Amino acid sequence: MRITDVVLLEVSGEFPVEGPFSEERRVDPLDAYPEFSQPFAPHRPEPGERARHRDLFLEIRTDEEVTGLFGPVDGPHAPILRREMRSVLIDCDPLAIEAIWDLLLRRNRHARSGHYMMAMSALDCALWDLKGKALGLPVYRLLGGPVQEPVRAYASMLGFSLEPDALARRAQEYQALGYHAQKWFFRHGPADGGEGASRNVAMVRAAREAVGDGPALMFDAFNSWDVPYAVDVGRRIAEYRPAWLEEPVPCNRIRALRTIRERAGIPIATGEHLYSRWQVKDLLDADAVDVIQADPDWCGGISELLKIASVCSAYDVPLCPHGHSLHAALHVAAALPANVLPQVEFLILHQPHKQRFMRGYLQPEGGVLRPPETPGLGIELDPTKTDTVREIE
Ligand SMILES: [Mg+2]
Repeated sequence: MRITDVVLLEVSGEFPVEGPFSEERRVDPLDAYPEFSQPFAPHRPEPGERARHRDLFLEIRTDEEVTGLFGPVDGPHAPILRREMRSVLIDCDPLAIEAIWDLLLRRNRHARSGHYMMAMSALDCALWDLKGKALGLPVYRLLGGPVQEPVRAYASMLGFSLEPDALARRAQEYQALGYHAQKWFFRHGPADGGEGASRNVAMVRAAREAVGDGPALMFDAFNSWDVPYAVDVGRRIAEYRPAWLEEPVPCNRIRALRTIRERAGIPIATGEHLYSRWQVKDLLDADAVDVIQADPDWCGGISELLKIASVCSAYDVPLCPHGHSLHAALHVAAALPANVLPQVEFLILHQPHKQRFMRGYLQPEGGVLRPPETPGLGIELDPTKTDTVREIE
């Protein structure tokens, strides 16, 4: 079998707008600049309002009518996939995924990180989808699974209101749905001073008081803090037993992460912005983190997430993949032991948008997920949800 084309499909369709997509925003690194730190105003739709959406999907075509599909793919990756990688892949054996990965890594001196590696990730995931379809097996079986069935999901609460009563109501609602853990997102950072820090602490307290002692609670600072701020807030939330403090500073600041971990005395997580096993190993060698969160959509694909899992397992540090999308992470999770990969992230408000053009809907039940049993990843475009599908350059 040979690859004959690498195509980007722009898929669009119109949907009713249901409720505000986000009720609150998270803290952002740009909050350091007041002119870029906008107050959040949720969009409240008019009755009957509809909106047009577009997503990109990557399709790999072959001379045997077997194809591989992956997406949604982020816009900046499109020109890299189409103009840089397509010509390399034509005539390659699509089942030789490791060879293609290594070829692409060696081909560009900047391949090790950023948009190039993210584009490689999309290709890798599409190739695993293709291989599953060619061999008639779901990807988790190609990877050696099932090992854990089902896979635990944690409820990621990005976009929900942080007003204390609303937060408590939502926290209890998702606890009752069977989620063993929840992640909430800080709204404030150093630019908001002592008052903002106290509001962050109050959010953690409200979440813990709402769910009681049992559930794990995680808290995400989205790269927006600094070391003194993270140590201060980290120490003040320690009594509420966070399962982790996520991305207090960017993931390449290894020394800072270790300092925060040591001085705040709470577990630290990072990794959704890490690329490849080598960057993960640097953090683990430094004893800087307690949890790695590499994302198969960005870190180098399914192939690389497996290698990252091996590295993490050698250090006895759990891998909890970030939830940019879900299908790839779920197949990898189902093929690894729960002590190596204990849970995947399910973004409650974002997943309906990630999956809007797909047939079916991956939705946790009782706080757990099962990977699709169809050959490949189980990503299929639903013609009833798309009115236009066109190839783009
Ligand atoms: Mg995060």
